[in-house]
Amino acid sequence: MNYENLSPLLQDTAGRYPEIPPVLLLKIDAILRGVRASERAEALAKGNGFIWETVNGDKRKYYVDGVIFPDGLSLEKPKFPGETSQHRDKAIFSPGTVSYLIDEIDGQFWLTDDGKPIERLFFSPIPQFFGKKTSRGTPMENIAESLPSSCLSLVPYGYCYFWNEKIPCKYCNLIGDLITGIKSSQTDETLQEITETVTEALKEEGRWQIFRLHAGSDPRGGVAYDKETEEYIKVLGAVEKAFGSKDFNGRFVGSALNKDQWKRTKEAGNSAVEPHIEVWDKRLFDIICPGKAKWNGYDYWLQSALDAVDVFGRGNVCSQVVGGIELAKPYGFGTIDEALDSTLAGVEFFAERGVTMSFNVLRVRNPSVFYKEGQAPPSVEYYARLATGMHKIRKKHRIPVGFNDYRRCSAHPDTILSRLDYPQATL
Ligand code: SF4
Repeated sequence: MNYENLSPLLQDTAGRYPEIPPVLLLKIDAILRGVRASERAEALAKGNGFIWETVNGDKRKYYVDGVIFPDGLSLEKPKFPGETSQHRDKAIFSPGTVSYLIDEIDGQFWLTDDGKPIERLFFSPIPQFFGKKTSRGTPMENIAESLPSSCLSLVPYGYCYFWNEKIPCKYCNLIGDLITGIKSSQTDETLQEITETVTEALKEEGRWQIFRLHAGSDPRGGVAYDKETEEYIKVLGAVEKAFGSKDFNGRFVGSALNKDQWKRTKEAGNSAVEPHIEVWDKRLFDIICPGKAKWNGYDYWLQSALDAVDVFGRGNVCSQVVGGIELAKPYGFGTIDEALDSTLAGVEFFAERGVTMSFNVLRVRNPSVFYKEGQAPPSVEYYARLATGMHKIRKKHRIPVGFNDYRRCSAHPDTILSRLDYPQATL
């Protein structure tokens, strides 16, 4: 890394938090400031087959699998000049900043800031199942997706019921993706397509380290979330057919289920679960997550994570927060210190009970309520303190994050720090 080309703010933060690798601060800052690609970088990526392009009428959409730093961490995906705009392009970044630029320099990809090269980048190859079709003619890239790092992901159904009820989580910008081309209920035919797609994906040996199921919330059913549970179980059955066993390291990012529902998903092949509390403070939970508050409230979501430990075991349950939403104006905490005290108290509470906690960096994008409210993300310093605070508590309680660490999901700055804990290989 050309450390001297980092912005003065990032150099200052790196100097005051030496326990965080500068590349991790750079990764966080790129989310806060946004990333674009130059025309030269786009041409190089296209020429090397790193861009999967779909054209629908006058809409041109690009998919890139991952943009990777030399140490394996992934960078926020850039906006390319050749793509048509999407709803999520409307975003609020750190005030007073401009986006980073991925440029081509001497035939290589580089992350640049203000025209100065900072770090070399690599694009990961498009998965080999892209471009293939199921027996019903559906493009397999519409069935499954690939996420950095090494994660094969399925979305079992195409909506979040909280959006239907007009009570989405206020930071949520996922609706555009959740309504795109995915059936709202699985049928025998769509389950067969999942089996075929996962079977094809598995032919790419060594590519996948984790399997993820992820969708919005659906609290309907005789008991709340029964319908969601049933959809997951159906999809897990289709995945089992592809793997030939239930032992496929399945990770579930969904709603808070009760203990009986957790047991049913475990019997179907789930091995780790993430019912996200999103924000630790109960008052803010009610304000920011009105859907979760209605179905069935803060205490229910908290208890669900504790029940999941009984079913899946210590360290196989994660309750994530979206770091920074607790500072939303005017209802959030007034200072960084208050916000950190609150969240880290939650991390400690959960860690004592076998639940790990991680965080995602807040992205303020259309069509979220936060975007309409004009919320801005907090500073990089806030995230540096949150990441180190979470990491220290996790170490103190020796809570593993194996199913969600930097090798399987590089979204969480705090779990990325877990790589510092692993024994060094003897050379
Ligand atoms: S549960 Fe909240 S964050 Fe998740 S999809 Fe629904 S509204 Fe969005």
